[in-house]
Amino acid sequence: MIVAIDGPAGAGKSTVARALARRLGLGYLDTGAMYRALTWLALREGVPAADGAALAALARAEPVSLTASDAGLRVEIAGADVSTAIRRPEVTARVSEVSAHAGVRREMVARQREIMAAGGWVADGRDIGSVVWPEAEVKVFLTASGEERARRRLSDLEGMGVAASLDEVRADVERRDALDSGRAESPLIVAPGAVVVDTSDLDVEGVVDRVAGLVEAAAR
Ligand code: C5P
Repeated sequence: MIVAIDGPAGAGKSTVARALARRLGLGYLDTGAMYRALTWLALREGVPAADGAALAALARAEPVSLTASDAGLRVEIAGADVSTAIRRPEVTARVSEVSAHAGVRREMVARQREIMAAGGWVADGRDIGSVVWPEAEVKVFLTASGEERARRRLSDLEGMGVAASLDEVRADVERRDALDSGRAESPLIVAPGAVVVDTSDLDVEGVVDRVAGLVEAAAR
């Protein structure tokens, strides 16, 4: 069973995917964490976000490692534990530029397919149902109003002790949406066969119930 969960920033993908994976006893693959880890490394190494060839070479040379633990997801790259650092605003500000390059996506998608090859995964991202795993048994496109998505991102940031205003966060979410949806390579789209779930007025339990219902129906 592969469950593909795509959608824009702040729609609740990672919260829902993690809870669903736990409930169903499946692995959870956070593909955004992979693009974020590469972005973190590029910033450290001084590789410009515009240099697709250098970024793809960096992705090839330094594969991202993801390990699930009770404390959450452990993300490592180039020998560094970047689990927390990849959520910082300076990484968020650059990640959509980094992930737009075809060479970068080729490296990441190949690695994601390797990880998921044995089945038993809930994966979230922007292109899981359209590119990474189009034959996924369940495909969901999670969305919510811009206002609600900005509020959720703000509360994530507050949880990390990062100060920001709702207007700033909303502008960042809208900027990333435009870049992720407008790029030539694997843009954010509703994949053929995906079920659109608007989470604006649902709590996490409600969304997880809804998606778990789709999984149950697909398994019948
Ligand atoms: O999911 P998250 O917000 O952590 O993803 C960070 C960024 O990584 C997205 O805004 C998008 O630019 C990129 N991304 C992507 N394809 C994926 C997952 C994330 O392009 N499958």
